[in-house]
Amino acid sequence: MASPRILILGPPGAGKGTQSSNIAEEYDVEHVTTGDALRSNKEMDISDMDTEYDTPGEYMDAGDLVPDEVVNAIVDEALSQADGFVLDGYPRNLEQAEELEGMTDLDVVLSLDVDREVLVDRLTGRRVDPETGENYHVEFNMPEDEEVRERLEQRDDDNEESVQNRLDVFEENTAPVIDHYADHDGFVAIDGEQTPDDVWADIQAAIDEGV
Ligand code: AMP
Repeated sequence: MASPRILILGPPGAGKGTQSSNIAEEYDVEHVTTGDALRSNKEMDISDMDTEYDTPGEYMDAGDLVPDEVVNAIVDEALSQADGFVLDGYPRNLEQAEELEGMTDLDVVLSLDVDREVLVDRLTGRRVDPETGENYHVEFNMPEDEEVRERLEQRDDDNEESVQNRLDVFEENTAPVIDHYADHDGFVAIDGEQTPDDVWADIQAAIDEGV
């Protein structure tokens, strides 16, 4: 079987990062994530692109979308080097979706559904281990190891104000992308409010069915 080309859609905090890691490991595909790529390049100079701000980080900390030109180039480059992949965090608007159609075909399109109140709790309580990239939560999932607990950090955009803005941006820009893909071959909507293990079981079933 050829390596699957998988798109995972859903709002911030739906669990796309966690489930994409599972997919990458189980199906031996590349995890292509615009959020991580941009976080590693927050200070990149984009002033020659005629954009409002001079670096991606300024958009990200406010919870706004980084300009399409920057993000399209990241994804184009990453996909051209990947055989199979799970694409996470892109496309976030219809223009990016159109761009993606010119880059690759998709075998499976997953959409994780989670209500807004649940997302706010998940995102504002989220903490990240800077050494492993592992996500935790102050209420639901803290690490047992005290050393790990002490080094946890909050992402710059996981404060209440940025979270609310990111969810507004999602509803306005990205929800139409999900509607756009609803008729795509291999589209499966998944209940993202289940336990991570149950979400993962549904995802595996969807991928095994779709490829
Ligand atoms: P994430 O880690 O996916 O929640 O992304 C964090 C931030 O990176 C977003 O709030 C945006 O500022 C930026 N970002 C990630 N992916 C995209 C994208 N496809 N288009 C524009 N901005 C993006």
